[in-house]
Amino acid sequence: LRVLGIETSCDDTGAAVVTSQREILSEAIHLQHKLHEAHGGIVPIVALASHSAHLPGVVRAALDQAGVKATELDAIAVTRGPGIHSCLSVGMNAAKTLAAVLGKPLIGVNHMEGHALMARFTEQTPPQFPFLCLLISGGHTLLLVAHDVNHYTQLGTTLDDAVGEAYDKVARMLEIPWLEGRGGGPGAALELLARRGDPHRFALPVPMRHSTRVGGMDFSFAGLKTAVQRELRRLPSDEAVKENQRADMAASFQYTVIAHLLDKLGRGFKWCRQNGIDATSLVISGGVASNQAIRASLSRLAENNGVPLVCPPAKLCTDNGVMIAWAGMERLQRGLIDDYAIDIRIRWPLEELQAEWKTRSS
Ligand code: ATP
Ligand code: FE
Repeated sequence: LRVLGIETSCDDTGAAVVTSQREILSEAIHLQHKLHEAHGGIVPIVALASHSAHLPGVVRAALDQAGVKATELDAIAVTRGPGIHSCLSVGMNAAKTLAAVLGKPLIGVNHMEGHALMARFTEQTPPQFPFLCLLISGGHTLLLVAHDVNHYTQLGTTLDDAVGEAYDKVARMLEIPWLEGRGGGPGAALELLARRGDPHRFALPVPMRHSTRVGGMDFSFAGLKTAVQRELRRLPSDEAVKENQRADMAASFQYTVIAHLLDKLGRGFKWCRQNGIDATSLVISGGVASNQAIRASLSRLAENNGVPLVCPPAKLCTDNGVMIAWAGMERLQRGLIDDYAIDIRIRWPLEELQAEWKTRSS
């Protein structure tokens, strides 16, 4: 089987064709980093204009590269949500029209399910269900149990900023230039700077260690961001000193983020044991999962809990058409095909997927 996947939920226009044999036949992407950097964040109207301008060319490139005629596709998958309203609409409208004209199945994919299922595409031995899953991206910090395709339990989410958002904001405070190209942006630039720094130079508080909600599996990054800001204000005004300490601040921030992730993941493993869930692996994905320091620490934690850490290659952790095409494939194979009239979902918790299909089939 061959599925075309279209992704336009945020700032990247992606299209790809994958097969049920887990091959990438093609992958085309148009990045918008340059358009948004000057604004310090994504501007919806700018993103909309860029998706509208580039999506047709990106889809054409994906088909040409794959050497596949549109009529030879088995389904059209598209990101239905969550994401920016105007951006999602561009992809959804294109996918609906394509699918309807070709008379092919349309599959609306939850972007976060796309991130979660990516590891089942890229790994030689795909992680079997159920697995514990940490999705760390620009808009989300989700701790999940993936029971099956379309079936998730959410153990925790962020109470304020997403982890990628915290990376982006701290990178901005430290005035780090964005890294160019795919897998670039502020977070990746901060990781690079942190490699040169001392993670113990600044003692930043690990979020929620002393809060009353400590028993939960939710995350919080806003306080950490404020702590970084406070420490930065205390630095001597001497520019040369400041310059030296930026790397230390980046390293201290990253060290604290990792400590927080480890706290909550430890609880996640415990929850699985207490609830009779025999997790086969720890899967991480989303843009922040391309961070090497995070991968190394989480890999040790997984090992201590007797399971492997599974993480897609860095370039497939950030947004791309492949993840939507593959999630579409997994859904197609289970008969989870949508109506041409489906709407987009700006907010769309993964836990709602199963309930929605129960109502539909009854
Ligand atoms: P969502 O998936 O929640 O809708 P998104 O699609 O915008 O959000 P992704 O493309 O998955 O997010 O990830 C982008 C985020 O990942 C950005 O915040 C970026 O700074 C961060 N990021 C990318 N590489 C790294 C890295 N090496 N270290 C830390 N953060 C990173
Ligand atoms: Fe994403």
